[in-house]
Amino acid sequence: MYKKNAGDSQENIHKNIQEYFMSKIHELASEYLDFSVEEQQAHALSMYGKYLLSWNERMNLTAVTDPRQIILKHFFDSAILSLKLSAIFPALPSLAPDDDSSTRSSPAASLSAVPVPPHIIDIGTGAGFPGMVIKIMQPHMKMTLVEASAKKISFLEHVACALELDVACLHIRAEDLGRRSDFREKADGVVSRAVADLPVLLEYAIPLLKVGGYFVAAKGQKVFEEIERAGHALEVFGACVEDVCEVNLAPEAKGHVLVVIKKIMPTSCSYPRRAGQPAKKPL
Ligand code: SAM
Repeated sequence: MYKKNAGDSQENIHKNIQEYFMSKIHELASEYLDFSVEEQQAHALSMYGKYLLSWNERMNLTAVTDPRQIILKHFFDSAILSLKLSAIFPALPSLAPDDDSSTRSSPAASLSAVPVPPHIIDIGTGAGFPGMVIKIMQPHMKMTLVEASAKKISFLEHVACALELDVACLHIRAEDLGRRSDFREKADGVVSRAVADLPVLLEYAIPLLKVGGYFVAAKGQKVFEEIERAGHALEVFGACVEDVCEVNLAPEAKGHVLVVIKKIMPTSCSYPRRAGQPAKKPL
């Protein structure tokens, strides 16, 4: 547990908190993760932790305020989801202009070799989980964070600016975004954690996905009951569950699972229904 010292200036407290986050991230990563957190990523996460705690004194961002718990329940839980995404959308090697490769013999061939970053949307991101952490861990992904609360959006914009992260923060409800022609059926991936029951979430997420795109939902222990209840919604939205995998993290963050859902058919223009309807009358 981080403890303030009497007489510490506000600036010193923030500096100390950031340093505390930094050392804890490395310590907990070696204990609980089977992948490494690079120095630059740990630095970004420790700044993020500092802002989360200081803004949380003024607005309700998270009930989790102990740095160890923030690291495990918010940062690492989201980082594991980002790893799943990177397996679905691996970073492609970019070709340098003077690359001596046979694919560069024709302009068309070299054009097709330019990697297009996958566009991922996080629905109901709250204080940025998992979306902001995904951008820190997988910077090649194009991230859009969607949130219904304007206050949370101002926090996210502050973090993105301070950490120099190129993420779009949209103050909009998922249902309204799914009806906008510039977002509908355009995303490669959608993610979401702790926002709604699966039948409701599917109505938020699937209309945003291209056919062939993936929705990765972070869920709890009752996931199989939710999947059963979502059978009709899966059929209506033309999607299927491809994988359900357990997240093996610290005891504090046990029982988390990731549900990987693939969109296999276009979505009827009747969906999503107007804002509030999916939650009021789930399919
Ligand atoms: N995903 C974050 C996490 O795991 O810490 C936040 C979870 S919080 C319990 C749910 C968030 O989803 C809230 O910030 C709420 O404003 C947002 N939300 C709920 N319904 C939404 C909708 N239809 N569109 C956009 N945001 C929504």
